[in-house]
Amino acid sequence: MTNENITIPADLLPADGRFCSGPGKVRTEALDALAATGTTYMGHSHRALNVRFKVAELRNGLAEMLVLPDGYEIMLGNGGSTGFWDCATFGLIERRSHHLEFGEFGSKFTKAVAAAPWLETPEVVASEPGTRPDVVAGTDVDAYCYTHNETSTGVHLPPSRPADPSEGDDGALVMVDATSAAGALRFDPNETDVYYFAPQKALGSDGGLWIAAVSPAAIERIERIAASDRFIPASLDLKTALDNSRKDQTYNTPALATVFLAVEQINWVNNNGGLEFAARRCDAMSEMLYGWAEASDFATPFVKDPAHRSPVVGTIDLDDRLPADDVVAILREHEVFDIGGYRKLGRNQLRIAMFPTIELSDLQALLATLDWLAENL
Ligand SMILES: *Cc1c(COP(=O)(O)O)cnc(C)c1O
Repeated sequence: MTNENITIPADLLPADGRFCSGPGKVRTEALDALAATGTTYMGHSHRALNVRFKVAELRNGLAEMLVLPDGYEIMLGNGGSTGFWDCATFGLIERRSHHLEFGEFGSKFTKAVAAAPWLETPEVVASEPGTRPDVVAGTDVDAYCYTHNETSTGVHLPPSRPADPSEGDDGALVMVDATSAAGALRFDPNETDVYYFAPQKALGSDGGLWIAAVSPAAIERIERIAASDRFIPASLDLKTALDNSRKDQTYNTPALATVFLAVEQINWVNNNGGLEFAARRCDAMSEMLYGWAEASDFATPFVKDPAHRSPVVGTIDLDDRLPADDVVAILREHEVFDIGGYRKLGRNQLRIAMFPTIELSDLQALLATLDWLAENL
């Protein structure tokens, strides 16, 4: 058989073939709910009360889902997580930051910081793709930056404050990129000062926004830097974003559909038991995926240490007999989408999302499909 005329038996295939790691699957129930708003939401002013009420639902629902401590606030603005890196470079890092790099997204933030002439050269601790460095106290830094889940490599790192605070600087902020983690992975918000993300991955919505849960110390930092003589462009000004967020608005027009779909997802999670409900779905999927790969004779988990394997983004190396590019292309023909590995890693690898929106039965079907392909390619 050549790849072009391979037909996978229809009864093997997942009912919903969306396994992309970013953007992630959006539940069709949420899309239906958006369509059902008809004339009552889309096309309304983001200053109108009904839209501001949706933003309030987003902020309150997230505070509940993330179980935020007293004094923490949800703020939001435009530009996604990449935009937030620029906001943080201008408005959160005072002088020098410490970065853990164990994948593409962590290093992109470091690059943004390193290019800012008003900041000192950041301190960077890196580890090989597929591994992770430990959080340790840095020297002379005022912010610790790392990802909760490296979407590029499938490694997660539970947020924690530096182990030996006496070595770290007083009041250094812990800033965690939770773009592919928020709404899926358990964490203790007390260990973070800025837990930020965009809603198109684990949160099952669409792109364009950044959202951040900020501690009282982070709010104090934002206000102090905004009051200093540092130049900050208005669209990246976190004080402006904070003031608008407190009024359930954004500085400029947000994607109303993104807000709506995020609220649908947050309500779905909260009404089913909260973050623990979502985390358990990911646990079940990741146990299935990694268990399958360990038992398989053509697939192996890329991340060697089981404790470091992401519960939401699974990276699976394939045997050379089974080229990942072919597998991805054949599956796409069968409406299973975007399971190719991260390009820059350059491995014969699949990357399979296990976000809370995804059904365990669909993952099971995907694995059965891969077994079938391994036998029939
Ligand atoms: C996708 C992703 C980003 C970038 O998000 P955008 O909203 O596209 O800017 C940043 N960090 C992590 C961990 C991601 O997975």
